[in-house]
Amino acid sequence: MIDLNKIKKLKNDKLWFFRFKKFWQDYLITNDIAKHAFLTKEEFNNFVLWKLNSWEKYDELLEKKFIKDESYEKDMSLAFAKRNDFLAYWPTLHIIVTTLRCNHKCQYCHAAVAPMTAKKMDMTKDTAKKVVDTIFYTSSPNLTIEFQGWESLVNWDIVKYITEYAEIKAFHLHKNVTFALVSNLTLMDEEKLDYLLNHNIHISTSLDWDEETHNFNRTLKEANSFEKVAYWIKRINNEYEKKWLEQKVWALLTVTKKSLSKYKEIIDTYVWLWLQWIFLRPLNPYGFAASDLKKLWYTSEEFIEFYKKSMDYILQLNKSWINFREMLSGIYLSKILTDKDPNYLDERSPCWACIGQVAYNYDWKIYSCDEWRMLGRMWDENFLMWEVWEKSDETYKNMINSDTTKVMVLSSTLDWLPWYNDSVYKPYIWVCPIHSYKTTWNLIPNYSLDHKKKLDYAVLDYIFEKLRSDEDKKVFENWILWRKDDFVVSQCEVV
Ligand code: SF4
Repeated sequence: MIDLNKIKKLKNDKLWFFRFKKFWQDYLITNDIAKHAFLTKEEFNNFVLWKLNSWEKYDELLEKKFIKDESYEKDMSLAFAKRNDFLAYWPTLHIIVTTLRCNHKCQYCHAAVAPMTAKKMDMTKDTAKKVVDTIFYTSSPNLTIEFQGWESLVNWDIVKYITEYAEIKAFHLHKNVTFALVSNLTLMDEEKLDYLLNHNIHISTSLDWDEETHNFNRTLKEANSFEKVAYWIKRINNEYEKKWLEQKVWALLTVTKKSLSKYKEIIDTYVWLWLQWIFLRPLNPYGFAASDLKKLWYTSEEFIEFYKKSMDYILQLNKSWINFREMLSGIYLSKILTDKDPNYLDERSPCWACIGQVAYNYDWKIYSCDEWRMLGRMWDENFLMWEVWEKSDETYKNMINSDTTKVMVLSSTLDWLPWYNDSVYKPYIWVCPIHSYKTTWNLIPNYSLDHKKKLDYAVLDYIFEKLRSDEDKKVFENWILWRKDDFVVSQCEVV
């Protein structure tokens, strides 16, 4: 039981609010500007009782704002504002679903794909124009348009139309626009590649390993999906090299049961394809993945073991001068070791839904994010945000003022969520209302049933443990020197 009288008597008005947890024999503490420190048991007691007897520790805690000084309020407000400045922009990532058609039928796809013959499920030029008009009416000066689909290359003419119309609008309205295309790459050809390179459209794909696993997960009847994607990744990276571009194709791995024992081979394949990052992404329990659990699913413990083994191997590669990084850890490291949140998609509080990203479906419906759009395809339209109207100002105002926007912001803001707000990892974690909804039928997450949180905490435990070793910390510090455009692309859930 907490003895409040005892706490009041401490009179430690030099200390400000912090969160803590026992970390092996020591203590880990964090504060609202995401600074952290390790204290031994003795230091922790002395700190709380305001009897610190080490100047070195005192200076560290003062600098990290665990101890107040005269400029404390001002410094904290500025640091807090800087860390949360993403809240000022409203949507920056605009996902356009150019078609529901796809030539694959992946095991873990979140929703029902339309067959290649279903041309009615392509976005029309008229809708595309209205979508672009809406995007350019939004308030952010920096916009990213991401082409998703079920397979975005299927409706290629609309991809080109949107790109060229958006380029013209960006020029006239003095906005910056970047493009990303999420594709399974099996419909790529030289002409399309040339266009994508000329218009600086970043390319993102999915790559599972080995060939048998990839082709099992990502079923393509007419051809060998692995062979095609591996060919195009190499081919595109080769073109980037020739043009002296630093960027590389973005490839995402979805971890299924079959991947668990193959962590080394998967990473070696990514390195062999000259890829710089891997994203060790656990499965989401939606769509086909949910109905096929036996074939694909694994326990949290199994995923955590896979993550740790993969990370140990990646660290080993880095120590042998192979510069290769893991994305999820990279996002956390940026939150832990820098003053700014990387503002990467979901991984923030509140999450990106409605206020960071918006998904425009082929049929003029607007969803809070790509995941709701996919669930919409599974006949769950509860969180439709709005529709694309003739006048973009009306569309935008209605989108932002929609009930969906309010409920998504509320349910993904950690500050009022019991237990999450108390966690030592609160400055780094996030919650996903869709995940909560699909696992417990409640948008507000249930801390004790939140399996995603369990994975996040295990990843953070691993990272903080490694940060205590100088050698590993040096490797991690290199990772966070990434380029901004590494974060352009989103999660390629269905390519
Ligand atoms: S609701 Fe979930 S999937 Fe959608 S943006 Fe938020 S965290 Fe991401």
